[in-house]
Amino acid sequence: MSLCDWPGRISVVLFLGGCDLRCPTCHNSVLAWTPEQLPCVCPNDVHQYLEAKASWLDGLVISGGEATLSNDLPGWLAELRKRFVLPVKLDTNGMHPEVVEESLRLGVVDMVAVDVKGPLDMYPALTGNRVAPNQASACLDRIFDLAGEFPGRFMFRCTLVPRLESTDVDQVRRMLPAGFSLITQSFFEPRNGQKEEIPC
Ligand code: SF4
Repeated sequence: MSLCDWPGRISVVLFLGGCDLRCPTCHNSVLAWTPEQLPCVCPNDVHQYLEAKASWLDGLVISGGEATLSNDLPGWLAELRKRFVLPVKLDTNGMHPEVVEESLRLGVVDMVAVDVKGPLDMYPALTGNRVAPNQASACLDRIFDLAGEFPGRFMFRCTLVPRLESTDVDQVRRMLPAGFSLITQSFFEPRNGQKEEIPC
């Protein structure tokens, strides 16, 4: 349960394993890269927990890892929403805009929080060489178009990781569509000590 993952709401956060990026500063690296090392929570347990708590909650946050990689995420969210009648927030790195779009068009997400890693030319360094600048540009352009189409359903965040200067953050601000402001988050060292240096 969380009081801060969806500001203003009491939410339950479901963390889905797996991520296709390798950010050197990742906070959930075991969950993101080797989820098989962690115990699996079976869907029935999730459902029972939500059944018991739903009346106390204002929202369900789907986080990760990268949740948009999970099989049939929109279908699963539709099922959860129908069963528990809770608004849903999706946390994403924005690199799978087609899943975000499908979820929005099906009406199964109420809020999408997109982590913008930094200026486009820093994406390779900030994502462990998993995203080239042109790929980041194409994905974020689609996300920004969706934000224009679904106003009020997006928030954009940037974590102030080492090597990100204030001028870089200003550059990210300028990338956002009109009417959106950037939420900056402080960076804390991962508790498991697995942080790697961001290459120059
Ligand atoms: S996108 Fe998020 S979960 Fe994936 S590696 Fe980067 S910080 Fe970790």
